[in-house]
Amino acid sequence: MKCRICDAVCEPVFSGRIRRIHTATYNLCGRCGLLQIEDPFGLSEAYADAINLEDTGILQRNLSLARITTLLLAEHYSQAGNTWTMQVGMEFSLA
Ligand SMILES: [Zn+2]
Repeated sequence: MKCRICDAVCEPVFSGRIRRIHTATYNLCGRCGLLQIEDPFGLSEAYADAINLEDTGILQRNLSLARITTLLLAEHYSQAGNTWTMQVGMEFSLA
């Protein structure tokens, strides 16, 4: 198969079970290192109940990840010298 990221040839490296139901062959890209299966399946099944009512930390994790993402984007755009405004639960701008 070809890599979804860089289009290089991937080689099968191992097979494994996904969600204890499906068997898939994992392929490694020799150029960028992406590990991937050829035909992703079961995503709708896997994400059908991604938000569990018993998960009391989901809001805190999302706020924390929003801050981290904001810092990474701010660092990237400040290095690139771009002007940028983004709203992720908080608002800021770089000039
Ligand atoms: Zn690749």
